[in-house]
Amino acid sequence: MSTTTATWPIFEAALLSRETVAERTMAFRFAKPADWEYRAGQYVDITLRDPPETDAEGNTRGFSISSAPREDVIMITTRLRDTAFKRVLQQLPLGTGVKIEGPFGDLRLHHADRPAVLLAGGIGITPFRSILVETIGGGSLPYRVVLFHANRRPEDAPFADEFRALAQTDPNLTFVPTMTAMAGSTQPWGGEQGHIDAAMLRRHLAGVAHPIHYIAGPPGMVQALRTMLVTSGVDEDDIRTEEFTGY
Ligand SMILES: Cc1cc2nc3c(=O)[nH]c(=O)nc-3n(C[C@H](O)[C@H](O)[C@H](O)COP(=O)(O)OP(=O)(O)OC[C@H]3O[C@@H](n4cnc5c(N)ncnc54)[C@H](O)[C@@H]3O)c2cc1C
Repeated sequence: MSTTTATWPIFEAALLSRETVAERTMAFRFAKPADWEYRAGQYVDITLRDPPETDAEGNTRGFSISSAPREDVIMITTRLRDTAFKRVLQQLPLGTGVKIEGPFGDLRLHHADRPAVLLAGGIGITPFRSILVETIGGGSLPYRVVLFHANRRPEDAPFADEFRALAQTDPNLTFVPTMTAMAGSTQPWGGEQGHIDAAMLRRHLAGVAHPIHYIAGPPGMVQALRTMLVTSGVDEDDIRTEEFTGY
């Protein structure tokens, strides 16, 4: 790994593979240097080198690392919108190097013996996948964790099968996916529908006393969920957030 005078690591990583993990949603796996470390829940800045096209937003984006440190790649997962950055990323030949800077951020589960409620809006699921795969892969969650994940339709929900499997492995994990626009879906759905709201939380949080809440996703969704929690009486100190600025 090569570093410069910056106080964080900067290195080149080759694209190893890409995989569609939901509609218009792709996971990209990059080579992980042997001596580079991060904590589950952190993010990196990725810069495209000499891209064939660019736009006003430039060639760098921040992405939560959706892989767990125990996995041997750096995975990021994104919604494929029609921007220059994402057009280039989708077409990058395997083996091409990108510049990676980081890790940054300190989203992580607390140490206190209190349950956790994780609220993910759409692609905001990425840091929670890293945290849950890392923790459950190393044994089991230290307390109850209830993960709510809102998407428009099942077609849009990345990693849902993996979360169901993790919840089977660890009885401390409860997974509550909810769909907000089933009218546009062709898949059957028997689970929750509608936005995550106070009534939905009450339905699934019986016996979950004094949890710490984590919210990740596009800024509008993070703000709406924070307001909902505070209005329902949750103390601001018990809410931790990661906003995906740029959506
Ligand atoms: C800490 C952190 C973690 C993040 N983690 C992730 C992650 O795990 N996965 C992830 O996908 N993103 C993540 N992001 C956001 C990411 O950095 C990008 O900003 C985001 O993916 C949008 O990039 P873009 O190229 O699609 O749009 P940009 O080109 O950056 O968009 C620029 C502006 O145009 C608007 N815009 C562009 N295209 C559209 C469109 N089709 N419809 C409506 N508006 C549009 C955007 O709202 C924005 O205001 C994270 C951001 C932060 C700060």
